[in-house]
Amino acid sequence: MNLIEYENLNKVNKFLEKKILKRVSAFLKNGNYILGENVSNFEKIFSKFIKNRFSAGVGNGLDALIISLNSLNLKPNDEIIVSCHTYIATILAIIRVGLKPVLVEPDIFTYNISPEEIKKNISKKTRAIVVTHMYGKSCDMHPILDIVNKYRLFLIEDCAQSHGAQYFKKYTGTFGDYGCFSFYPTKNLGGFGDGGLITSNIRKNIEKVKKLRNYGFKAKNITEYLGFNSRLDEIQATFLIEKIKYLKKINEHKRRLAEIYFYYLSDNFIKPIIDKNFYDVYHIFPIRINERDKLIAYLKKKGVETAIHYPIPPHKQKPFNSIFKNSFPLTEQIHKTILSLPVSFFHSEKDIIRICKIINKF
Ligand SMILES: *Cc1c(COP(=O)(O)O)cnc(C)c1O
Repeated sequence: MNLIEYENLNKVNKFLEKKILKRVSAFLKNGNYILGENVSNFEKIFSKFIKNRFSAGVGNGLDALIISLNSLNLKPNDEIIVSCHTYIATILAIIRVGLKPVLVEPDIFTYNISPEEIKKNISKKTRAIVVTHMYGKSCDMHPILDIVNKYRLFLIEDCAQSHGAQYFKKYTGTFGDYGCFSFYPTKNLGGFGDGGLITSNIRKNIEKVKKLRNYGFKAKNITEYLGFNSRLDEIQATFLIEKIKYLKKINEHKRRLAEIYFYYLSDNFIKPIIDKNFYDVYHIFPIRINERDKLIAYLKKKGVETAIHYPIPPHKQKPFNSIFKNSFPLTEQIHKTILSLPVSFFHSEKDIIRICKIINKF
């Protein structure tokens, strides 16, 4: 019996091979390696895709968050509200720029930050909210925007898992002051190495982050800000220009695989929520089950690989022990019971039907 892998990047990108080789050869002939026309073209193409005004390519998703937060000119220990249930980068970025993350519990069914919990944690020192659109589903933006407007806060979106996801027909990355994307190879728009991008509809925001990513230079060797060296690579940009042509197709494929899970998978497993006002892109297809470890072992024996996103919540990680002392029972419950099923671009509908049949017998 064939093994069903959880992920295989070679298979995901196989269809691009010839086009990528052509681009390598054009790149070598061109000889412009840093912040050339591939980066600026990709920025335009990306903005066109998500229907916003401006984009700035950066080195990776963590840097997109760090540079965005840094550009806000906040004071040390100003408070930033963030979900406790997110990838470590979201919280790490806040700490790295000297701000204070205030962790709040997520909604246990959407896995996204809960607007009610945000309200409860607003204080006089709150300056911004960072929302992560988890697993390819947009956060519930209307109540979040109400809070942002009422308290005059900054809003940063962590869109590393939500390329192309929509909320009431509007793309993630277009709601806040900044949208932060990652092109880490396993993301829906995965590159062939590290890469990241910041989006904004505010011209002066994007002008500032474009300076910050390049040493804070406003012109060659003239420094305006204490900057970073975090530029999207030209070679990644030329690959991404090719791959973004297929992003819609990739997202549609993952949505089709998700539909099969919704249809065939037994209701003994807690599946993601579906809502017609959300266009979810299933970066991951998570289910929850109390006997997770037994299920993983059973599936492995039957030739189905799975993954856990993520096994340890950020506040339980060693370097954060001294920073976060509270317990977050919902987050901990999610981390103990969540399991990611295969939902990659290279999986076929048949693969998913087979997985469902196997799981339903568990
Ligand atoms: C992947 C990811 C990041 C970080 O992206 P890198 O490019 O690896 O730095 C940040 N936030 C979330 C939610 C992610 O999934």
